Amino acid sequence: MTGLNLILLGPPGAGKGTQAARLRDELGVTYLATGDLLRRHRAEDTALGRRAARYMTAGRLVPDRLVISMLLDALGSASPHGFLLDGFPRTTTQAEALEAALDTASLRLTAVLLIDAPDDVIVERISGRLTCPQGHVFHRQSDPPARAGICDHDGERLVTRDDDRPDTVRSRLEVYHAETEPLVAYYKTRGLLRTFDGTQPPGDVLAAIRTALGLEPARHR
Ligand code: AMP
Repeated sequence: MTGLNLILLGPPGAGKGTQAARLRDELGVTYLATGDLLRRHRAEDTALGRRAARYMTAGRLVPDRLVISMLLDALGSASPHGFLLDGFPRTTTQAEALEAALDTASLRLTAVLLIDAPDDVIVERISGRLTCPQGHVFHRQSDPPARAGICDHDGERLVTRDDDRPDTVRSRLEVYHAETEPLVAYYKTRGLLRTFDGTQPPGDVLAAIRTALGLEPARHR
């Protein structure tokens, strides 16, 4: 595989999903968001979905071994153009498992894109977030859908995710700082980390990512 192998890192609500939606089609990479994969398992009521539910509802991490095997399975059929991981790895154990699997497949990470934002911005953003079952995201104030409560892309009903309620958001941020933030140093040491300011408008963040990856500037925003 000679494509771009990318990780999106950062707190929940920093804009990883928004950037992923813009990057994935253009780059032709396989997009894997472990949160979306787990929500699909829950919707389909699989054994994994049932085991993951109580962790997700509480804003805690699903145990490493469950998430690692789910992700590595999905990665096995990734596009030759590469992959874009969103929400994985979230612990050092997950990062080490990914590194070992990539080594075995003679693959390398191209870059880890850290999109960062302070906790108060995150809480404000996530508490207004509306999501459709396919994962399209809107915001009550800053990015409302054309018709209230309906996804612009597929006409499905928009809901507040059960883990987007303010108390759970605070737990998710605590978990991020304790479990996931150490990955910033992990990838910095490996020379892979590129940092972006998630408080900036999404088009500006995308432009900065494009520059960091050496992509041509976008013709349209
Ligand atoms: P997200 O959509 O990325 O915010 O993920 C939603 C929830 O899914 C998280 O709060 C966790 O409970 C679970 N989850 C997603 N990705 C992972 C992961 N890599 N490791 C453990 N739990 C995860």
